[in-house]
Amino acid sequence: MTATPEVELPDSFDGAGTIHNPATGAVAGQVRWTDPADVPRIAASLREAQKEWEARGAKGRAKVLARYAVWLGDHRDEIERLLISETGKSAVDAAQEVPLLIMILSYYIKVVDKAMAPEQRPASLPFLSVKKVAVHYRPRPVVGIIAPWNYPVANAMMDAIGALAAGCAVLLKPSERTPLTAEVLLRGWIDSGAPDVLALAQGAREVSEAVIDNSDYIQFTGSSATGAKVMERAARRLTPVSLELGGKDPMIVLEDADVELAANAAVWGAMFNAGQTCVSVERVYVLEPVYDQFVAATVKAVENLKVGAGEGYHFGAQIDDSQVAITERHVNDAIAAGAKALTGGKRPEGPGSFYPPTVLVDVDHSMACMTEETFGPTLPIMKVATVSEAIRLANDSQYGLSASVFSKDIERAKAVALQLDCGAVNINDVISNLMCTTAPMGGWKTSGIGARFGGLDGVRKFCKQETVVAPRTNVGAGGNYYNNSHKALARMNKLMTKLALARPRRTAK
Ligand code: NAD
Repeated sequence: MTATPEVELPDSFDGAGTIHNPATGAVAGQVRWTDPADVPRIAASLREAQKEWEARGAKGRAKVLARYAVWLGDHRDEIERLLISETGKSAVDAAQEVPLLIMILSYYIKVVDKAMAPEQRPASLPFLSVKKVAVHYRPRPVVGIIAPWNYPVANAMMDAIGALAAGCAVLLKPSERTPLTAEVLLRGWIDSGAPDVLALAQGAREVSEAVIDNSDYIQFTGSSATGAKVMERAARRLTPVSLELGGKDPMIVLEDADVELAANAAVWGAMFNAGQTCVSVERVYVLEPVYDQFVAATVKAVENLKVGAGEGYHFGAQIDDSQVAITERHVNDAIAAGAKALTGGKRPEGPGSFYPPTVLVDVDHSMACMTEETFGPTLPIMKVATVSEAIRLANDSQYGLSASVFSKDIERAKAVALQLDCGAVNINDVISNLMCTTAPMGGWKTSGIGARFGGLDGVRKFCKQETVVAPRTNVGAGGNYYNNSHKALARMNKLMTKLALARPRRTAK
């Protein structure tokens, strides 16, 4: 088990990888890659430790999760420093991850007891009232979590918490682009006095595949293309999956919107974390009467942004040059097809994987910047004549993660929201649904299958359900067995049919 953090290793170490800071190119740290052949052994050791973890009960596990939350609070500065050097984030962006994780921990500490309690269900027919029906939640022993690089704290651990709370062990495979932060998160788990039910498998595709082959449930966050491969691999052993995938989130600005608010939301929603957020604002549709005002307010807000890693900047670097290349392609192709960049639009000279905040206008759906996930600091804005045109264009996408609608008339905005084909809609705000742990966060279409959070479901999804039917009384027990007379059986079937037909007869009238 790779239980020992290996953030610092000598260069000569066989199997060590060096991680560079994308803002400066400096070495951020080193990591020991896991040999895929070792994954079955790591999973077996987790499977063994999980038994005692489950036996602690919900309250016992909540105590450990609480100590972990306190540890995270105490080590926030250290984690954020590492985050910045591993990802090139600005300090304000990096500062959002640990508090989000602590908030999620706090929520599950509160609800885990209720989530894991067996549920009594009423009998469906009157003659079944002699039975007590209970649904029990039994943790899947090993949950494999495969994470992306854009939020190395939140995306690695926010699903792990629900699984650990449920009594599962977790085998976490962080992105090979950001493995260092996960090592510190594991160190925190160990330092909190928690048992060996969290382990890391560090590496790329081969390690991921070994995790899939050795887990009882797969929680995957990443691109839609990889999500499909994960599902295919998991299908070999019929392992259930939950896939949180890519997005191309639209924002709709109605003519009665608070334009200043909408512009600031669009700029933050598009540029936060250098645009590398699954639920970032990737395209905007603005009603004609407020289009000019919205574009002017957006450009003004973008011109105030400072780009760089660490303190004093709004957003930082992209994760590496391959990610910058996607942003460049989307912007360059759009400009070649007639779009205009009102800000940015060109990669700056100098070191680091930076791209400037870029507002694009005169865009349409023939351009990749409006249809493919950019995952960069771009904000393409399109003028629309009617609300139905905005809805049609918003839905004209292979993705369906989330969306936002801006209007001073909340009921009108809600009516628009319910015509959008996606997992969540924020009204007069962006991204905030991600903080609503009581509601599911999941995508439609190629944005995913299943959902994270969702209140008690955020724990129960990592469990198998077991129904236990027990007698309340022995009166009438075995009334349908062969040892009853055929006459008695016929009488009973007649009675059952009559009882079952009572509601359909009433409803059909
Ligand atoms: P990615 O799909 O390239 O990689 C994700 C993870 O999958 C990594 O750990 C990687 O090592 C692993 N992987 C790669 N190939 C694999 C394979 N064939 N089989 C199994 N695992 C494999 O994604 P990324 O570039 O790391 O992350 C960016 C993507 O993640 C974007 O599309 C973004 O929208 C999405 N994302 C979605 C959410 C969400 O909640 N919906 C959140 C964050 C990021």
